[in-house]
Amino acid sequence: MRPPLLIKKSTMSLKNSQLHLIPTDTHELFLREERLSLALKGANDGLWDWNLETDEVYYSPRWKSMLGYEEGELAHHLDTWASLVHPDDKDRVLKTVQDHLSGNADSFEVEMRMRHKEGHEVVVLSRAFLVNRASDGKAVRLVGTHVDITERKKTESYLEKTAEILEMIATGQPAAVIYDRIALMYEGRHPGMRCSMLELESGKLLHGGAPSLPKDYCDAVHGLENGPNVGSCGTSTYTGKRVLVENIETDPKWAMIKHIALPHGMRCCWSEPIKNSSGKVLGAFGMYYDFPALPNEEESEDLKSAARLAGIVMERDQAQKRIRVLAYTDELTGLASRVRFYQQLEESIKSSDRNGRRFALLYVDLDDFKGVNDSLGHDAGDQLLKEIAKCLRSISREIDFVARLSGDEFCIIVKDVDDDYAAAHVAQRCLEMISEPIELSSRKFTPTCSIGIAHYPDDGENMSTMLKAADTSLYSAKELGKNQYAFYKPELTRKAEHRFRVEQALREAVEKQQLSLVYQPQIEMSSGEIIGVEALSRWNHPSLGHIPPREFIVTADRIGMIKPLTEWVLYTACNQAVACRKAGIPVIRMAVNISPNHFLDNDFVLLVKRIIEETGMNPNELELEVTENVVQTDPQNLSVFRDLKELGVLIAIDDFGVGYSSFASLKHLTADYLKIDRHFVSDMLHDKETQLLIASMIDLGHKLEHRIIAEGVEATEQYDMLNNMGCDIAQGYLFSKPIDAEEIMQTLNSNIDNGRCVWP
Ligand code: C2E
Ligand code: MG
Ligand code: MG
Repeated sequence: MRPPLLIKKSTMSLKNSQLHLIPTDTHELFLREERLSLALKGANDGLWDWNLETDEVYYSPRWKSMLGYEEGELAHHLDTWASLVHPDDKDRVLKTVQDHLSGNADSFEVEMRMRHKEGHEVVVLSRAFLVNRASDGKAVRLVGTHVDITERKKTESYLEKTAEILEMIATGQPAAVIYDRIALMYEGRHPGMRCSMLELESGKLLHGGAPSLPKDYCDAVHGLENGPNVGSCGTSTYTGKRVLVENIETDPKWAMIKHIALPHGMRCCWSEPIKNSSGKVLGAFGMYYDFPALPNEEESEDLKSAARLAGIVMERDQAQKRIRVLAYTDELTGLASRVRFYQQLEESIKSSDRNGRRFALLYVDLDDFKGVNDSLGHDAGDQLLKEIAKCLRSISREIDFVARLSGDEFCIIVKDVDDDYAAAHVAQRCLEMISEPIELSSRKFTPTCSIGIAHYPDDGENMSTMLKAADTSLYSAKELGKNQYAFYKPELTRKAEHRFRVEQALREAVEKQQLSLVYQPQIEMSSGEIIGVEALSRWNHPSLGHIPPREFIVTADRIGMIKPLTEWVLYTACNQAVACRKAGIPVIRMAVNISPNHFLDNDFVLLVKRIIEETGMNPNELELEVTENVVQTDPQNLSVFRDLKELGVLIAIDDFGVGYSSFASLKHLTADYLKIDRHFVSDMLHDKETQLLIASMIDLGHKLEHRIIAEGVEATEQYDMLNNMGCDIAQGYLFSKPIDAEEIMQTLNSNIDNGRCVWP
């Protein structure tokens, strides 16, 4: 007869002495259990029988085999269960047991994770079906079953996760996030597996998602061209067919790129092409293991379903990208659309608020575009719009933004404008380029446009006020007669126009001989002798009139005209000096002003040398006046100074005392003269401190062996005071305003006395 409770003698853990605790009707129990035993066998369940007093537990062979153990293995004790149950589940299970035994819960049914002999997890459903109690009601025995529900759980979790992913797709989560989620889901189903999704774009593999693959590997794959032998994914996207590579190391398909996979441990790779609903290959789903292998049935199925799932995401993502491109691009011209423009304007406002830099908004509107459509037809109109778009694109810098707003209305956002003229320059270039004649319907046509300019934050504080300001400016430009630009503030328009006209005119000034030189004598205070003249440029433009040198010199510097201008001044001044000498006038110095930018140009020394040679000028009769801030610009300046000194020319520091580094500059520059700025001279009579300053400049200058020239001497009192302070040379209206060549020759000629020119 079989022992009761299905416990074989050899493995019985309950002591015989304890059997008396089993309820009286043993036979009936036996029968019930015998029946149950058979039923369990049929149901493939394991049985456990727990003596609560001793913690001995009988585990049936099926119980053990469920976890990979033989019948003879595992001690029949509660500790065995305790060592195999997942530590996170243990307390919960014991609590459920307790509740059941104490009558708090009617039934006992609990899920727990247990460790298989081979290390993986088995999910077990444990149910108790029998409690025996002692006469005092205390539970002494609990019997139950184990069912392996791993597969069911896996399927449940797979379905749950798939549903989650589908929900993410439906709610429009970013594709990259969903790709990672898909990869992690399949990796969870197959421990040790690593997954990747690659997108295919114009024959190139682009990284989609691969949360468990190393970044180095993903970066190396990103951008690879697909082809018949470009790993598993490159090949599968190329052929449109599944590619199973059992061993990356030896498979010829990986020969070219295995060096990027092997260092990261990947040994096999299976790839399924990802296709859209019409069968077009969008990318590839890859599965990797760190050992050579081919997929089993489940993995093979999963590879297929993973690619299908990823395909839904990819197709949606590409459709969205296409929609975005359509919404953000103007179809006819390829420029940004109005929608995109609004977005950009908002971004520009935000970034300007952040970094405090201004930007300009230009509205460009074609003049009489309707006429083109009406007379030449809509095709010609479209062609014109495309040409305009091309122009605007070529004019703007990389960081600027160009959009077509509607019909013939365009806009440019010019970023980081430092002054009002930056936008005016862009506008001017637009006017010029757009008005290049083009051929429309075999007819020559010269388009023109009007431009409105508004600045942020000067002319509007938010998007709508900015749009309004630009629109108002455009309206002004049209009102003013079209084919021009207008700022929101009319005075800026006038200033910008003037500035632009000056620039244009200056380009021709040298050529058209509109420039001339005037000369102002310099008088040595100790002797009253005229020892030099300063050459000063004058520009009289036929329509703009007399433009002061301070204005046109800055302009020349800005538009790159300073070099020819200085060249002309040097030639003219040196020729004049040589003419004086030839006319028998005693030798005097010729001072010429030189813009600091020349000292950045190595060719400048050569230019001076050439002019000296060509004119026959004596180098030590030529004095170059340069402002003290020249030392601040660049150390390279200093070498130019040295080379000039080597030529033998004299150097004067002009406007001394007003710059940032007056005294510091003396340390670096080997100057012959210091010219005290005329503002000191004009203040000196009323201001004691200025007197002190001038006195110390003279003192220090002398100590450093410079001769001192006072500029702007207008009054005898100034002259006398300077003379008393020991100043060497005076220049100013007291003696003479700058006068033209003829007059200076006359002045010098008529004051010759004993081989010297002496001021009368
Ligand atoms: P600067 O070199 O300091 O020239 C002296 C300026 O003071 C000249 O102005 C001159 O006319 C003016 N001036 C002379 N004496 C008196 C006076 O007693 N009272 C008053 N109120 N002013 C006096 P200008 O000719 O208008 O030139 C202005 C500046 O333009 C010059 O200042 C110089 O920096 C620049 N400049 C003139 N011609 C040239 C040139 O050919 N090349 C360069 N690079 N700069 C030039
Ligand atoms: Mg000067
Ligand atoms: Mg000066």
